Amino acid sequence: MDRSEYQIEDDNLKLKVIFLPFLSISHIIPIVDMARIFAMHDVDVTIITTTSNAALFQSSISRGQNIRTHVMKFPAEQVGLPVGVETFSADTPPDMSPKIYAGLEILRPEIENLFKELQADCIVSDMFHPWTVDTAEKLGIPRIIFYAASVLSRCAVHSLEQHEVHTKVECDSEKFTLVGLPHELEMTRLQLPDWMRKPNMYAMLMKVVNDSARKSFGAVFNSFHELEGDYEEHYKRVCGTKCWSLGPVSMWVNHDDLDKVERGHHVKTQGEEEGWLEWLNKKKEGSVLYVSFGSLNRFPSDQLVEIAHALESSGYDFIWVVRKNNDEGENSFMEEFEERVKGSKKGYLIWGWAPQLLILENRAIGGMVSHCGWNTVVESMNVGLPMVTWPLFAEHFFNEKLVVDVLKIGVPVGTKEWRNWNEFGSEVVTREEIEKAIGVVMDGGEEGEGMRQRAKALSNAAKKAIKLGGSSHNNMMELIRELKELKLRRKAQ
Ligand code: UDP
Repeated sequence: MDRSEYQIEDDNLKLKVIFLPFLSISHIIPIVDMARIFAMHDVDVTIITTTSNAALFQSSISRGQNIRTHVMKFPAEQVGLPVGVETFSADTPPDMSPKIYAGLEILRPEIENLFKELQADCIVSDMFHPWTVDTAEKLGIPRIIFYAASVLSRCAVHSLEQHEVHTKVECDSEKFTLVGLPHELEMTRLQLPDWMRKPNMYAMLMKVVNDSARKSFGAVFNSFHELEGDYEEHYKRVCGTKCWSLGPVSMWVNHDDLDKVERGHHVKTQGEEEGWLEWLNKKKEGSVLYVSFGSLNRFPSDQLVEIAHALESSGYDFIWVVRKNNDEGENSFMEEFEERVKGSKKGYLIWGWAPQLLILENRAIGGMVSHCGWNTVVESMNVGLPMVTWPLFAEHFFNEKLVVDVLKIGVPVGTKEWRNWNEFGSEVVTREEIEKAIGVVMDGGEEGEGMRQRAKALSNAAKKAIKLGGSSHNNMMELIRELKELKLRRKAQ
């Protein structure tokens, strides 16, 4: 990319933007990518975060643009956490989560002071820092809310809040249609987050988050017009604010392999992740299934057993990113399974963390099984893969609606019930259900082929969206123009 393409003529008008990520990997990854896109457009960028979270992205930003990271010390001792535990991930013990929130709360005055000192022109804040909207107002600068979620999911939540259609059905498993959305989408109460079914502390937080969104200058999404255009327009209408889709953010900034490997993951030893590549390079184009459930999930042993059996009997080659529980029976089952699939060369297990972007772009990958985490959905669009949808928590069930019902590039595995990210829940998807859905996605039959073609068309649209004249590129230019206009007006006052 030629940097001069973005050069801003008047240095007095150089924008200064602060990014404030949340403390979870899947929120940090896309907002840092977005910060890098701003920096590419000659914006002076500062990211504020804590020590361990900075380590997740520091090397990738130091290689590229001139972005400052303001690193704060997380108050681990004050909240009773071991030093270094300051990120929400699959490894965070459930009892430590409230303490991470408490630590973040302690940091708030320090962050507010930084906002004042840095004299920025705009704050791009993760949705989970709703208070930043008031700070920005006091400073007289715009606050933009960053959602690590689909636009559709935000519209769905808004529809449910407005029309409360989920309270009008007789039981949790009765279907209802979401009111007022661009497509007719059916759901059940069981698929909604618990806080929407029965108000709790989280519901109060979400109310504050939604109020802060309405008071914001606008919202930015890791999406693109060709993917969710109808929902962008709907969001603007119902929220009454602006919104800019700036995605796919991962494709826009992560060009070399090191960027892709280190994204969201601090690589400790060189060559840590190379075995899979050799294995994958020997496979035929489009023949391998990639199975992954994001950065937060851990399955109970009985679910791992079902997945293992389904993968083995499906007959398709696979890469499975899997996390162990400290269960002896499970460990010996998984060891034997790994041994067997390694011997037959049918499967490759990656324990813990996988370089997902690199794996997905390998020509051997032909489909995926995904929990419908929003980053993963967008990353699969980048490379045009159909998917088996296996929603679990957060806004995954809304994302499944987009993938299956709107875009028609996915087959549901059939999960019926939302659960919390750090709980197992009671639902176990059977090997038969999993195998059936895999068959549709990987099979060369009419249904699978149709999905593959639609996914490829979206991949082409994604590539165009971030190029000069593309929808996300235009949105970025327009956003910068509007922020500069606000800056000029402030200066004139
Ligand atoms: N990811 C990865 N390797 C892993 C697991 C996750 O690179 O082994 C990345 C993935 O590419 C995505 C993010 O972590 O960018 C996960 O975000 P998503 O929204 O899909 O799911 P969540 O982690 O919120 O459940």
